Amino acid sequence: MSLIVVGTMAYDAIETPFGKTDKIVGGSATYAAYAASFFVRPVQQISIVGNDFDPAIMEDMNKRGVMTEGVEMVPDKPSFFWSGKYHLDMNTRDTLVTDLNVLADFNPVVPEAYQGAEFLMLGNLMPKIQKSVIEQLKVRPKLIVLDTMNFWMEAALEDLHENLKMIDVLMVNDSEARQLSGEYSLVKAAKKILAMGPKYLIIKKGEHGALLFDNHQVFFAPALPLEEVFDPTGAGDTFAGGFIGYIANSRDISFENMKSAIIAGSAMASFCVEKFGPERLQELTREELELRIQEFVDLVQFEIELD
Ligand code: AMP
Repeated sequence: MSLIVVGTMAYDAIETPFGKTDKIVGGSATYAAYAASFFVRPVQQISIVGNDFDPAIMEDMNKRGVMTEGVEMVPDKPSFFWSGKYHLDMNTRDTLVTDLNVLADFNPVVPEAYQGAEFLMLGNLMPKIQKSVIEQLKVRPKLIVLDTMNFWMEAALEDLHENLKMIDVLMVNDSEARQLSGEYSLVKAAKKILAMGPKYLIIKKGEHGALLFDNHQVFFAPALPLEEVFDPTGAGDTFAGGFIGYIANSRDISFENMKSAIIAGSAMASFCVEKFGPERLQELTREELELRIQEFVDLVQFEIELD
C-alpha cells in the first residue's frame, strides 16, 4: 500500500489578520506528507529543496515514515519561496511573491525503490513536472490524484489539460473550478471538468466544506466550524494528504470509501489551520484525530420524520 507524494517543499511568509510570520516551512508536499503519514507508511516523497532547507524537518519526516530519497537537494540555490496575505474572512488570499528558485529547473527522477507504488498524490506543482512523474512510473498506480491552483491555470493551462486526461481525481477549490470551467454553477463546472478527463472531482470550499462529484452522484462534507482559524495555509494540501493517505491505507477506491476519505482529509485540515505552518500537524496525536473525526460524524447526524 505504498503512496508517492509529489509537490513543493518550501519556505512561506504568511500574513493573516492575527499575525505575521517570517520564513517558515511550507510547501504542498510538506503538508501532504505530514497528513498522509498519519494513515499510511511509507510515504515516498518527491520534491526539491535548496541550501536553506532545515535538515531537522527532513529528519522529523523520516521518523514519521516519510522516505526522502526522492527529494533532491540543490547546494547553491534557495528553496521555493511563497508569500501570501489573507483577507479578513480567511477564505481569500493574495499571493504576494512566488519565487520558483530551485523549482525552476526541477527534473524529478523517481527512485527505483518507489516503483510499483499503488497510489500517487500529485500535489500542487508545475503541471509538466507532475506529468513527468506519471510517465516515469512503470506500472500505473491504482489511483492518481492531482491538486493544482490558479497560478498554474494561468501559467500552464495546456499542460494541465494534458494531465487531466491521465488522472483519476482532480482537487481544486471553488474559484479554481470556476476558472477552469468558465461556469459559475459548481454543478455545471463539475460536469465540464469531468468531461476533461478525471473520473472524480473534489471541489474544496474552505470553511464551507468540500464536494465530491463523479458523473452520477455528489457527496458533501462539511468543514468543522472552528472557533479560531489562525492560518489556513496548507489546509488544501493537508486535506489532500489525509484523503489519499486514508485511501492508500484501506486500498479501496470506491466512491463510498472516498466519502470517508474526505472526512479524514477534512479532519486533518481542521488541525492544520489552528497554528502557523505545519506545527499543529507535527504535534497531533492519534487520540485527537479520532475525537475530531467523531465531531464530524456528530455534526451531520440527525433524524427527521415528516408526519
Ligand atoms: P494551500 O494553502 O493548501 O493552497 O497550500 C499552500 C502551500 O502551497 C504553501 O506552503 C506554499 O509553499 C505552496 N505553494 C504556493 N504556491 C504554489 C505554487 N504555485 N506551486 C506549488 N506550491 C505552491
